Amino acid sequence: MKAVFITGHGGNEVVQIGDRPRPTRRPGEALIRLHAATLNQVDLYMRNSGAGITHTLPQIMGLDGAGVVEEVDADEPLLKPGQAVVVHPGLACGRCEFCQRGEGVLCTGMRFLGEHRDGTFAEWVAVPARNVFPKPEALDFVQAAALGVNHLTAWRMLFTQARVKAWETVLVFGIGGGVSLAALQLAKAAGARVIVTSRDDTKLDRARALGADHGINSRHQDVAKAVLAATDGRGVDVVIENVGEAVWSAAMKSLVRGGRLVTCGATSGDQPPADLRRIFIRQLQILGSTHGDLAEFHDLLRFVTRHAIVPVIDSRFPLDHARDALDRLESGQQFGKVGLDLLA
Ligand code: ZN
Repeated sequence: MKAVFITGHGGNEVVQIGDRPRPTRRPGEALIRLHAATLNQVDLYMRNSGAGITHTLPQIMGLDGAGVVEEVDADEPLLKPGQAVVVHPGLACGRCEFCQRGEGVLCTGMRFLGEHRDGTFAEWVAVPARNVFPKPEALDFVQAAALGVNHLTAWRMLFTQARVKAWETVLVFGIGGGVSLAALQLAKAAGARVIVTSRDDTKLDRARALGADHGINSRHQDVAKAVLAATDGRGVDVVIENVGEAVWSAAMKSLVRGGRLVTCGATSGDQPPADLRRIFIRQLQILGSTHGDLAEFHDLLRFVTRHAIVPVIDSRFPLDHARDALDRLESGQQFGKVGLDLLA
């Protein structure tokens, strides 16, 4: 089958577009004819180094995906051939302490598609049936694929970790990235007020068109001061961020007393000053978050359908142009998800 796979680590020269063996479905798995996937920052990480992630080369890239069930067990209760589905890319072991406690997202043996094993930038993928969910009907395959990583990550950050309420204000750093846009969409649908930051006025305008209540240009404005000005000097209840060091100080100063900061990334560095005095005097909560479990994905899909949420797609590339898609993601110019059409 045709697939996008890495044969080493480096730039796009290690990304091959060619033939890989079609996966064989094992009992308990679903074989899916993929129609679409989207790119995530971790795809660039796997291409560039993959350090710290156990994997063997060559490996097919891609975490999220959506397509049509081709084959399942005869006694599979929820899925049937021909059904349009979306994939949850985290394969928890089901046996460790955390899985047994129902916290699959903390699994010590977690394996992600496109990180620890072959992924979704391919014509077919075989995954445990429990990781396969009905596709929201209103979404096309690229839009549905986008839910599996970024929206799920934002969902856990907002609702499981920060427990955002409809009357609260949320600050989202770096609008334009997949998780940030997902957080904006989900927090707005839940009734919260949302303030966003970007270094690009065009992205702020587009975020306002998607419902953002207030935009701060972090290139020209002091973010913490602008946040206080926009909240009558109070500060925000929740900060959602994945930038790390570059925004940490502003994030801490933007929080109201008792506020919660949720982080899921550290692209600008992971060792900011802790500012402990501020944390204990103002009783702030710092929460780490990564991805989300099967139950959270189930809830997210219902929420997306109920609130008619459509993930923002920046661009779509055919599988043959996967390197251009990676370039687009790496440019940082995108607003929303970079999609791959796997039927072409
Ligand atoms: Zn486990």
